[in-house]
Amino acid sequence: MKEQLEALLQEALAELSQASTEEGLQELRVKYLGKKGAITGVMKGLGALSPEERPLVGQVVNTVKAKLEETLDARGAEIRAAVKAQRLAAEKIDVTLPGRKSPLGSKHPITLVTEEICSIFAALGFAVAEGPEIELDFYNFEALNLPKDHPARDMQDTFYFGESVLLRTHTSPVQIRTMLKQPPPVRIIAPGTVYRCDSDATHSPMFHQIEGLMVDKGITFADLKGILTLFISQLFGKDIGVRLRPSFFPFTEPSAEVDIACVICRGKGCRVCKETGWLEILGSGMVDPEVYRHVGYDSEQYTGFAFGMGIERIAMLKYGIADMRLLFENDLRFLKQF
Ligand SMILES: [Zn+2]
Repeated sequence: MKEQLEALLQEALAELSQASTEEGLQELRVKYLGKKGAITGVMKGLGALSPEERPLVGQVVNTVKAKLEETLDARGAEIRAAVKAQRLAAEKIDVTLPGRKSPLGSKHPITLVTEEICSIFAALGFAVAEGPEIELDFYNFEALNLPKDHPARDMQDTFYFGESVLLRTHTSPVQIRTMLKQPPPVRIIAPGTVYRCDSDATHSPMFHQIEGLMVDKGITFADLKGILTLFISQLFGKDIGVRLRPSFFPFTEPSAEVDIACVICRGKGCRVCKETGWLEILGSGMVDPEVYRHVGYDSEQYTGFAFGMGIERIAMLKYGIADMRLLFENDLRFLKQF
């Protein structure tokens, strides 16, 4: 019986040294030390031994059991240490690796162009002025020499809230509000959102304008031309061709539209400029004395000029954007290019 136990112990130790997982160890523990295990089986034969032999064999059983328990525990500790070492290696954090950058947005092309235009005029002494997008008929039309029955009102499809409240159709009411607030001289640039009932490939019901106004003693059409030419050369480059064409606006007299040489074909003629070589970019003119009357300025003493342009159009020409809708679709693949 003693030899049988010794053999079992050797067999168990051999198997234990092969075990590589905690589950495997647990199976061996059951196999040898469990209720139906091999050693328990041997102990069942103890009853058949003589009373003298029993304590001796019992001692051997205890030694074998103790040895087995001890080895099981030791092997278990080894396996746990190996598993832990493996996990540590797998989950190791290299603190010297560069961090993950959180994506940084970029400015919308409309914002970029607005900021650039404002900074050009700021350098010329113009202050940025702002006004409400919900306007009164008086500021949007009446004071700008557009009385109720004026045919030019048809040009501007207006969103009305009622008889006299509307979404401003242009940034010009900011000029009126500024002149009502302060005496001349005035030198402002007014960027902002404007609204018209209009929606197709080249029109959006919401778009952006930037408008300028300069009023003082002795301001002439030469100042208008000089400042706008300087502005255009700063925005589009020194060599860009500029021309003024006579035009009509209810709030300026005389009025001129300003063209630049086509930025696509450089004046040779292409589809974008309709083969003319020129692109219209802004409207301008000397402020009509009728406007001064509404804001209480003396048109005998003061003169001045105003101009306005669509920011979307400038952005499209400056960045070569073919479809205006791209500016409002918020497609990140498009916006990330700026
Ligand atoms: Zn062209």
